[in-house]
Amino acid sequence: MRAISILGSTGSIGRSTLGVVDAFPDELRVVGLAAGANVELLAEQIAKYRPELVSVRGEDDAHKLRALLSDAPEIVPGIEGACAVASMASADAVIAAIVGAAGIPPVYAALRKGKRVGIANKEVLVAAGDVMTRTARECGGEILPVDSEHNAVHQAIRCGTHPELQRIILTASGGPFLHRDLATFDAITIDAALAHPTWRMGNKISIDSATMMNKGLEVIEAHHLFDQPADRIDIVIHPQSIVHSMVEYVDGSIIAQLSTTDMKFPIQYALLYPERVAAPFARLDFAKIRTLEFLPVDPRRFPAVELAYAACRAGGSMPAVLNAANEIAVERFLAGELPFTSIVDIVKRVLDRHAGDVHPIASVDDALAWDRWARNEARGIDVAVRR
Ligand code: NDP
Repeated sequence: MRAISILGSTGSIGRSTLGVVDAFPDELRVVGLAAGANVELLAEQIAKYRPELVSVRGEDDAHKLRALLSDAPEIVPGIEGACAVASMASADAVIAAIVGAAGIPPVYAALRKGKRVGIANKEVLVAAGDVMTRTARECGGEILPVDSEHNAVHQAIRCGTHPELQRIILTASGGPFLHRDLATFDAITIDAALAHPTWRMGNKISIDSATMMNKGLEVIEAHHLFDQPADRIDIVIHPQSIVHSMVEYVDGSIIAQLSTTDMKFPIQYALLYPERVAAPFARLDFAKIRTLEFLPVDPRRFPAVELAYAACRAGGSMPAVLNAANEIAVERFLAGELPFTSIVDIVKRVLDRHAGDVHPIASVDDALAWDRWARNEARGIDVAVRR
């Protein structure tokens, strides 16, 4: 029986993780839950899973949560609470599914305690990947990818050795605007950008998928997880999202991983690895699929991808700046402050300002300092919204 903590239990990945716990009652049990402000859902999760420790975003949320529970576990608010849930002694593994750089301190806390971290929260690796992989090595922790693409790569690299690996091929659905007329991109609404064709996800990653910044962030994530330079990580558009990613070996063989579009597959893999346990989730039916398409990425349609490659090649503080500027630009788009195309424009402008001043990221504090700088810059850029 493995004891797990879930960071971001009320979100899309958090809820899927609890679905995996339900499917494996003899293998998994929940000891800690960290959420933000959705205290109603968190109260239901507490009543069902009986964790020992819980965290919420702030004191107010903690107060509201206590009022909803007759028999409350220990509740610790704020980032200290998320770190406490991430590092609790009784947890064998942690699923990191907070959205954004807010997940950096708790993931670091978990790795310092030598935990297995199933990481969905890619922004942590983008902003502080070297620190996280080094901490895992030094403290006996382990990072297993939950992002479906990286999880696919993790499975495929079990077929060869590191020197035999030629390149990683990340698949991308292409999002909702793969075929939309480029001349109409400025008129894209929030609802249209949130309507992902193949996955149901939280708002931030849905917008990142629409700009394809998500795939750019995944290139940086893959660079850290699999110790590969950006130039050995390719992207191919695959609208059906059935092939989750591939690796090519030096002999030309390509190994792919396929499944239905259900995040419970990579979550169960990350929690139960190296075992494979019979799972009750929907299987692929090749007679129904019929077509698997693969297309190149159009850089005019998705300029975010090249920005992320450039940040990955530059290294140091560039990826943390890219990530933070993107988080703010997405937040501003979702608040109705920006047209869709300005998301990537803002990221580019912040990266340009930072280009002559790239610094190494040697610690979590370094990553958080550059994250703060880029957020301020991205908030300060004026953009006119067409109504
Ligand atoms: P959601 O927006 O659905 O969920 C985010 C979770 O984080 C919620 O539980 C939210 O709490 C919590 N949260 C947000 N801010 C804070 C904070 N400051 N402190 C504590 N908790 C916080 O996002 P997703 O589940 O879609 O995505 C989570 C991560 O996983 C992202 O990094 C995303 O890129 C990645 N990912 C997601 C996939 C998916 O299919 N959804 C696929 C691959 C990766 P509350 O709602 O209570 O406020």
